[in-house]
Amino acid sequence: MEIINVVPHGYCAGVIRAIKTAQKTAKENPGRKITMLGMIVHNEFVVRECERLGIGFVENPKKTREELLDEIDEGIVIFTAHGISDKVREKACAKGLSIVDASCPDVIRTHTLVRSHVENGDVLYIGKKNHPESEGTVSLSPRIHLITKAEDLEGLDGLENVLITCQTTLSLRDTRGIINACLEKYPKAAVAEEICAATRMRQEAVMNLTDTDCLIVVGDPRSNNSNQLKRIAFDAGIKEAFLIGSVLDLKEEMVKNKNRIAVTSGSSTPNSLTNQVIDFLKQYAIDGIWQLPSEALVRLL
Ligand code: SF4
Repeated sequence: MEIINVVPHGYCAGVIRAIKTAQKTAKENPGRKITMLGMIVHNEFVVRECERLGIGFVENPKKTREELLDEIDEGIVIFTAHGISDKVREKACAKGLSIVDASCPDVIRTHTLVRSHVENGDVLYIGKKNHPESEGTVSLSPRIHLITKAEDLEGLDGLENVLITCQTTLSLRDTRGIINACLEKYPKAAVAEEICAATRMRQEAVMNLTDTDCLIVVGDPRSNNSNQLKRIAFDAGIKEAFLIGSVLDLKEEMVKNKNRIAVTSGSSTPNSLTNQVIDFLKQYAIDGIWQLPSEALVRLL
């Protein structure tokens, strides 16, 4: 059995920056109430680590960031790497909260792009419904229209000077398909595909895998980019792919009798979690003993 460490994988620069921002805020503000608006990144191990530092969270997938903000009445609010709308920022100011913004520079770049475009035209923004990044971007202007699938274009007639752009963590392949559908409706539209370099490189590394029986993706089930990696595995012709939170979710039947197993992770997954999976499988490949570590040994950093 061969275990392939897919490179690159794991934390991207934007996530590292967000975690460092949260750590710095906790260190510099002992005794002050600090609350993250949503999950810092979609990974429960990272969330637990922030809680250990005394940072609280408000999160509810059914609520918007604006609604969640109603639950924070004092202290410091940290905006996550997914970016934030002007409306939420203004509301936080009006509530007298101190703001720490951990938005990823790549998301801010998309915000700058669409902000400038809506002064003279409309934006077709390809993204996931109810995802904090798309929520933050679409709320910047009524001229930004969320497109989750080609069918969403129905009824979107009469737009002017159209720009097609997208969320940073989407699948390259799916996004190209939706961009083409947008171009069929608006052939003169400009295209700015904003999938970030970190997402792109992690997806391309999976697409380039050859003779692989199985892909293990280490990541949180809520992580968009981790889910994309699993889907891409099937597109790349890999017959089996599993998304696991940590080594504790591995099952022997996932890997038994396989010749080549590749391991990767989304950009919100700590590398320590991925390395634990790789180390465990490499040892299993040598001695055939299936004995997972105890939960207490699965640590974040
Ligand atoms: S995945 Fe891309 S956009 Fe998201 S935090 Fe990382 S670098 Fe930024």
